[in-house]
Amino acid sequence: MTQYAYFKKGNLDFLLEDGTKIAAPKFINKGAKNYRFHLKNNILEKKCIECETFLDVQKLIAGEFIDIHDETKIHYISESSGYQGKCKSCLNREQNPQENVHIRSVSDENNFSLTDENLNYIQILSLIKNISEDETLNFIVSIIRKHNRIEYKESIK
Ligand SMILES: [Zn+2]
Repeated sequence: MTQYAYFKKGNLDFLLEDGTKIAAPKFINKGAKNYRFHLKNNILEKKCIECETFLDVQKLIAGEFIDIHDETKIHYISESSGYQGKCKSCLNREQNPQENVHIRSVSDENNFSLTDENLNYIQILSLIKNISEDETLNFIVSIIRKHNRIEYKESIK
């Protein structure tokens, strides 16, 4: 037996396990694919469009949808708009750019490849300066950056 009822824009009716037809709240129409209804618990869940976590937002009690959302997890906007697209923890992460910079610097997404000569140069320089190859690479980039004469704005065009 299916555990969830899903919604399509323009059709918010769904069936409970006993066959009762229910009309889901109208705000679901604006983001139908981000909602689902748990048929065993009678709970309407909202999916964060960023981290794709489902959060409980309303409970069907005696045919009425009752708000049960946790404002610390997801923001309730209004009767017509429903709940915010992104959950609170995703929004907090976005509002803290310092954290984002940190995440980017430790990720393995930047796969730079160096020519053999440049790699060789970095290895020698790191030995001479007695620092790691990462530090050496940063050292070199820092020198270029300090003496930079590149017109960023011009080159972006
Ligand atoms: Zn999220």
